[in-house]
Amino acid sequence: MRTDFAATRAMFHLPEGVIYLDGNSLGPLPKAAAARLARTVTEEWGEMLITGWNRAGWMALPSRVGDRIARLIGAPPGSVVMGDTLSIKVHQALASALALRPDRRVILSDTGNFPSDLYIAEGLARMLGGAYELRTVPPEKVADAITEEIAVTLLTEVDYRTGRRHDMPALTRRAHQAGALAIWDLAHSAGALPVDVTKGGADFAVGCTYKYLNSGPGGPAFIYVAPALADTARPALSGWLGHEAPFAFDLDYRPAPGVERMRVGTPPILQLAALEAALDVWDMADIADVRARAIELSEAFIAGVEARCPTLALASPRDPERRGSQVSFRHPEGYAIMQALIARGVIGDFRAPDILRFGFTPLYIGLAEVEGAVKILGDVMDGTLWDRPEYKTRARVT
Ligand SMILES: *Cc1c(COP(=O)(O)O)cnc(C)c1O
Repeated sequence: MRTDFAATRAMFHLPEGVIYLDGNSLGPLPKAAAARLARTVTEEWGEMLITGWNRAGWMALPSRVGDRIARLIGAPPGSVVMGDTLSIKVHQALASALALRPDRRVILSDTGNFPSDLYIAEGLARMLGGAYELRTVPPEKVADAITEEIAVTLLTEVDYRTGRRHDMPALTRRAHQAGALAIWDLAHSAGALPVDVTKGGADFAVGCTYKYLNSGPGGPAFIYVAPALADTARPALSGWLGHEAPFAFDLDYRPAPGVERMRVGTPPILQLAALEAALDVWDMADIADVRARAIELSEAFIAGVEARCPTLALASPRDPERRGSQVSFRHPEGYAIMQALIARGVIGDFRAPDILRFGFTPLYIGLAEVEGAVKILGDVMDGTLWDRPEYKTRARVT
């Protein structure tokens, strides 16, 4: 193993007394991001004002950072661009993909997909006049549901609830054999597992950066378009910064060459600056090492929890190769149990109706945290410590 995990851990600010098992939902603060943000605010925004767009290179930031994300997902330089939120990027990828298969009308997804992806697909189908159908099947039925009716498969590699992982290359091959395009949502993959959109043959890939890539709350999303399609894919959100010459201020839209056309409007410079600094950790970390360590940690967690807490039922696949970087357990009182854990410094999260979710992020989490979390969870379950009214009132964000 080439990665020095003590060194990567030292790059993060981790609050005292907290075992953070929720980096799959919001990564912690990289120390370099705080410093970089301060510099961007005072030296660039503060001193350069509007000249920062040129002098500080703000306008090129979405593609510069895109190239660094590209390395993590097996994409060539110039094929990834940053901006907007993941929901918007799903809309863009799907609209472009549908336009590339004009004789087909069915979008295929699965019931394990993140609701926003499904809502976006449903909304787009409606916007296109009702001629389109969003078809959702159980995750294990996806392969069989890829028929010649399907225009596009819209799948998330790792299920946000259970951590179940799709076989991305196999499903992509199948989509292509049926004449469909494949969009992959890498929200729970980028920075968590080795991904190769080139070898895997994805047509479009999208993902967020505030989870395993630690860009902070509201950090921008990314979109990848396979180079073979990048000059033909029509952007549905045709904003001025995806124009071939934004500062010509033409009255007619002409898409920029390549993936740049997927830019929409003014990029979020502060968030991009934080993200760029957050990506420095990947100069020291090998994703294969991260994956191997994440499996080690999750296996230890499952073994520990199953030994200590017989009433918690594993909701994730038992085979680590079939899981992403999170482990989920079911319990009817899952919400209250998670609140009791958080009150004791173990932060995971809850997903309705009954899922306790724990993320394993080796860049800053080790075996000591896993053991600590198992012990505290064991105490909470043994003593029914979750059974208090203040743990049962649902907050706005669970
Ligand atoms: C986290 C996540 C989202 C969130 O989308 P935002 O637009 O960034 O809020 C969407 N899809 C998937 C699969 C996710 O895991």
